[in-house]
Amino acid sequence: MSQQRGQLNETDLLESRCLIGGTWLGGNAAPIAVDDPFTLEDFGQVPNLGEAETQAAIEAASEALPTWAARPARERGAILRRWWELIELHRDDLATLITRENGKSIREAQGEIDYGNSYMEFYADEATRALGEIIPSPIPGRRLLAEREPVGVCALITPWNFPLAMLSRKVAPALAAGCTVVCKPSELTPLTALAFAKLGEEAGVPPGVVNIVTGEARAIGGALTSSMTVRKLSFTGSTPVGVLLAEQCAATMKRTSLELGGNAPFVAFDDADLEVAVDAALTAKFRNGGQSCIAANRIYAQKGIHDRFVSALAEKIGAMTVGDGFDESNTVGPVIDERAVAKIDSHREEAIAGGAQCLAGGPSPGGRLSRPTLLAGVAKDAQLTREETFGPLAAVIAFDTVEEGIALANNTPFGLAGYFCTSDQATIAKAARQFQTGMVGINTGLISSAHAPFGGVKMSGLGKEGSHHGLEEYLNVKYVCQAGL
Ligand code: NAP
Repeated sequence: MSQQRGQLNETDLLESRCLIGGTWLGGNAAPIAVDDPFTLEDFGQVPNLGEAETQAAIEAASEALPTWAARPARERGAILRRWWELIELHRDDLATLITRENGKSIREAQGEIDYGNSYMEFYADEATRALGEIIPSPIPGRRLLAEREPVGVCALITPWNFPLAMLSRKVAPALAAGCTVVCKPSELTPLTALAFAKLGEEAGVPPGVVNIVTGEARAIGGALTSSMTVRKLSFTGSTPVGVLLAEQCAATMKRTSLELGGNAPFVAFDDADLEVAVDAALTAKFRNGGQSCIAANRIYAQKGIHDRFVSALAEKIGAMTVGDGFDESNTVGPVIDERAVAKIDSHREEAIAGGAQCLAGGPSPGGRLSRPTLLAGVAKDAQLTREETFGPLAAVIAFDTVEEGIALANNTPFGLAGYFCTSDQATIAKAARQFQTGMVGINTGLISSAHAPFGGVKMSGLGKEGSHHGLEEYLNVKYVCQAGL
């Protein structure tokens, strides 16, 4: 553990003001306190802003738009690259901030910085690839063009589970495309977002191009979604809030990208390599302490591999520890708040009441700690198969045939990620095609990459983040028809 727990090398990065039009605006009468999920102490605060400040941020973004959109893509990319370098340089401080406000282990926080920053690097290059098309004209003397232009002012609303990565995954493609943004981070983890914006300013992001407002979610969300100036909403968070925001956006016909809840299945088929399947399941389940939208929420094991798989999982999960995220000997840190602990506990208890056995871990030890836990013999209709547990609780359910495994995986209104393990090529082809998810991991529990399209289907949302698809989300296609040639 570091000697001074949670101390930043550069204390300026602990910012308590919001950024609107290039000005850092201080607090008001009732700022929002930010606490440390392990010590439960408040260690920072941010302004509690509302509709008026959000309007000011929208106007600032609108004023900055024409100049930013007109800058050569290469210059916008160069600023993103400088921002990427500054994040690299401040990796330790940013990771410290994440562990302090989110609770996750410092190793996971460093991993998040690397992952989140890979979007800055990727879109620094991708900025120059917003290519248009020349379409062969069906009528003589005409030239038909399809040009790509920035969508305009974008609203970006992000959750607490990856305070940097969920924001950089939106800001980087938006700026690369020539858009300007108003961001609203979660009130639980706003400090990483403010530090990120500070480094952006230092990298040369002009005033008004990136604005950050913190405060009352409904008031800020209402102002952003009802504005005609804001032409796009990109939201990452829960499905009910995503649905509400999509409804609010309809009246002004905004484009939307919605990265919503997951309830991911993980399926180990009989012919899976045991070691590969166990590693993949642990990665898919326990990354970020299980607080990930692509966390394996339901683990299905075919009868032939089930017992070996469960006993290997029990051994590994039994050796995991929970505690202070700054103590590197701990596997997982605390979860985000008391509601999260209560949900995990209720899922565990309900499953046990329905016949499941607890083979590792068990009841939460207090505070916001939740022990890495393994349940086996879980009923196919247990509550945890229907709702995201969002914590370090692995639940294994047995099944008989390949067809049943795929059907169980698809038995949910959600469709973000799905994982399966097998060594049979026919099963790979069949399950990859039949999984009703936006992303499929085969023989791995780690699928996220800035180079690949991240996003869901069904109630898990619309649109993609990462890859060239992520840039498209911030570009409109304009058709230009020139006659008389
Ligand atoms: P959440 O409650 O939906 O909050 C997400 C963001 O929306 C926060 O900034 C929140 O602000 C804001 N918000 C809440 N109500 C709002 C409203 N009425 N108007 C405008 N903004 C509003 O979700 P969460 O609990 O933070 O995150 C966990 C969920 O996110 C899980 O379901 C997870 O699966 C999903 N998630 C999805 C992805 C993906 O890529 N698909 C990635 C990560 C997480 P406050 O926090 O300030 O209230």
